Amino acid sequence: MTKIKHLKYTRHEIIVYSQMMKDLEIKQLKELLSTSKKIAIVSHRNPDGDAYGSSLALYHYLLKLKHDVTVVSPNDCPDFLKWLPNQEDIIIFEENVEKGKEILNKAEIVFTLDFNALHRVGQQMQPVLEELNTTYVMIDHHEQPDDYANFMYSDPSIASTCEMVYHFLDKLGDLNKIDKTIATCLYTGIVTDTGSFKYNATTTTTHNIAASLIDLGIDHTKIHNSIFDTNSFNRLQLLGIALSNLRVLHEYKTAYITLSQKELNSHDFKKGDTEGFVNYGLSIKGIVFAVIFIEDQKQGIIKMSLRSKGTFSVNDFARNHFNGGGHLNAAGGRSEVPLSNTVKQFLELLPNYKKDLENSYEV
Ligand code: 5GP
Ligand code: MN
Repeated sequence: MTKIKHLKYTRHEIIVYSQMMKDLEIKQLKELLSTSKKIAIVSHRNPDGDAYGSSLALYHYLLKLKHDVTVVSPNDCPDFLKWLPNQEDIIIFEENVEKGKEILNKAEIVFTLDFNALHRVGQQMQPVLEELNTTYVMIDHHEQPDDYANFMYSDPSIASTCEMVYHFLDKLGDLNKIDKTIATCLYTGIVTDTGSFKYNATTTTTHNIAASLIDLGIDHTKIHNSIFDTNSFNRLQLLGIALSNLRVLHEYKTAYITLSQKELNSHDFKKGDTEGFVNYGLSIKGIVFAVIFIEDQKQGIIKMSLRSKGTFSVNDFARNHFNGGGHLNAAGGRSEVPLSNTVKQFLELLPNYKKDLENSYEV
């Protein structure tokens, strides 16, 4: 059971008011941050560019304010994020449980970034967070946030948490504290969560922020290369398998890919290797819904990534059928039945969504 339920808002108010923190809350937070505090920053399990980018950006900012600050991540990040400034300072909870607990228990403020519900940190860390007697600050852009935070900045219309951190610093009157290091972290999350500025949630504001970060001297080409041009031979071979497993169901404008544990093992699978594979399904002409099913024998689950084009909500689909959620056009989910049964369940659901899929997106 969650202990930390001391919010000032009803659910309706959260939706209306939390788009940006109210001036009063910003004032209170500024006051809180005006003296040195013990602060932890937590990102979600299986951190991506936005989770680590936003966490490290905030980390560098809070260090500048002379706080005692630590980033705690439930598990490690893929190799393509290992170059981020000071990522080596991050405490990996599953590898260092005692230290992680100690930091969290001592923290006077805990920022939770890029996730909307405490279960997103995974089963090992979730109960620790639920027991904390601390001040929670949420900055996140996922749909339907839980209401555990004392200060909540939730806006699913914004493309990335990094963009939100920029707005947050703006509200605190501290844009001038953004240096090249912070800008590099923020740009990373913006570029990954917008699909290099192509997804629908990308706005002129996104581009203006990116421009201001480039003005601070970041090497945007290098950032892009560090994230996207780090293929190993094994990853490309695995992509070959994924593409040969790709199935297309034109009737439902749907494509899906499966990868079994055996197939992953045959190419020395490393965390992050399957990142982006699901997009190949979505790139087929006429396809509006794409899913990848990835077997994870260690966790005993099938991990799913779901993507859509247009109005078809993969957030709803994942939430209703596969214990997941996320955004309108990008979500994750999981299943605890074997790969073939999971796919069967999925295929049986599609006829119920035929109309929604047909109407989702006009090419
Ligand atoms: P991915 O497919 O890359 O794992 O996730 C796609 C998006 O959905 C990301 O923004 C990710 O944070 C989010 N996401 C993945 N799994 C879940 C989940 O179980 N619940 C929620 N709320 N969001 C998720
Ligand atoms: Mn994000």
